[in-house]
Amino acid sequence: MTLTGDAMRILLIDDEPFALKLLIHQLRGLGHGDVIGLARARDALDLLQAGEPRIDMILCDLQMPEMDGVEFVRHLAGIGFVGGLVLISGEDERILHTAGRLARAHRLNVLGALRKPVDPARLRAVLEARRATTPTLVEPEPFDFGPEDLWRAITGGRVINHYQPKVALDGGEVIGVEALARWRQPDGELIGPDRFVPVAEQHGLIDALTRVVLVNALRQVRTWREAGLDLHVAVNVSMANLDDLDFPDFIAREATRAGVPLTSLVLEVTESRLMVDPLAPLDILSRLRLKHIELSIDDFGTGYSSLAQLRDLPFVELKVDRGFVHCACREPDLCAIFEASLGMARQLGLRTVAEGVENADDWRFLRDSGCDLAQGYFIARPMPAMAVAGWATEWRERYPVLLAGRT
Ligand code: C2E
Ligand code: MG
Ligand code: MG
Repeated sequence: MTLTGDAMRILLIDDEPFALKLLIHQLRGLGHGDVIGLARARDALDLLQAGEPRIDMILCDLQMPEMDGVEFVRHLAGIGFVGGLVLISGEDERILHTAGRLARAHRLNVLGALRKPVDPARLRAVLEARRATTPTLVEPEPFDFGPEDLWRAITGGRVINHYQPKVALDGGEVIGVEALARWRQPDGELIGPDRFVPVAEQHGLIDALTRVVLVNALRQVRTWREAGLDLHVAVNVSMANLDDLDFPDFIAREATRAGVPLTSLVLEVTESRLMVDPLAPLDILSRLRLKHIELSIDDFGTGYSSLAQLRDLPFVELKVDRGFVHCACREPDLCAIFEASLGMARQLGLRTVAEGVENADDWRFLRDSGCDLAQGYFIARPMPAMAVAGWATEWRERYPVLLAGRT
């Protein structure tokens, strides 16, 4: 079939072969013959990253083994997918609703959510919705690179850290910063981590990447300390880093070399990844904790952890995913998830961080919620290391105004 102006190429992802066949059949019945059906989200991501064939719309099941729909949605946002997205689930309506909100919070073009078995009339309605909308995202410039290019960038000092502050909601103190990796291009353009971290993970480069980010972050903490700024630094680690038995000793050696106490370091692990097999990295996590390195569970709310699972892991901090923070003051569903997350953290005695604080309404809501720390564009965007001291001075002037509520 040749593509006409109206025809769409649809990517359908569902691990259940019967559901996959049924939906392909239904789509054909509605005149959409150009459908690629895949059983694994990982394969779908590979196809999308290859850029060929171009996909106009994705229909994705939420419950899948390996990589579930929620994690897939995060990756989709990372690669800047601009087509339409439809979420499908056999579970109750609320899960669909929440996953839809999360996807929208990540700026994806969500056209609707469908319960299984899919009602043909509703399917037709979401397909029509695709025609009526134009993508809201700006498609990133195509950026073609292979693992060798990334390797050269990591080893050649072209992966640098930006830092985003974390502040106390009560008192406004600047507690620390999160190191966020960027790949600097020869023309000065910075490529974000969502575009190269997955490649590093797939091609065995993640250890090298994490080590560079860590070493740079520790050196930077030392420089700030010398300038009178005592900041903690948080570094994101991948699950693959937690397979490496030398990892805790490497960190200890580098901290000594930089002259920075290990208590200044926080390692963030994404919840959805951790919950795939929470016991696997337990020995490394425990050894990191024994060295007094703080562990933080990142993007909380995307991984469906239970209280029991969390209790068994040596975390000291919980960061609620930005999808449940921004607009929680206005959306009862988000507010409920946010408050349940805080409640869980409190029961476990964990420090809480809200990420994705984007405006004064978010800030006021958090200030009243009892959450400990806040991070987000409203406080500061990620910035180069040299900008942090100046920002901190400016923040100390701004905070009393926020406190007085005159935002
Ligand atoms: P994350 O750890 O959840 O980091 C926060 C991300 O949210 C950052 O995106 C940050 O720029 C963005 N952000 C901060 N405040 C706001 C806000 O108010 N609104 C919105 N919409 N976004 C906000 P960034 O830098 O693109 O990083 C994306 C992800 O890439 C990080 O998510 C982290 O999971 C991963 N990452 C970053 N650096 C590294 C690294 O060195 N190693 C590994 N393994 N992953 C990294
Ligand atoms: Mg993080
Ligand atoms: Mg996060």
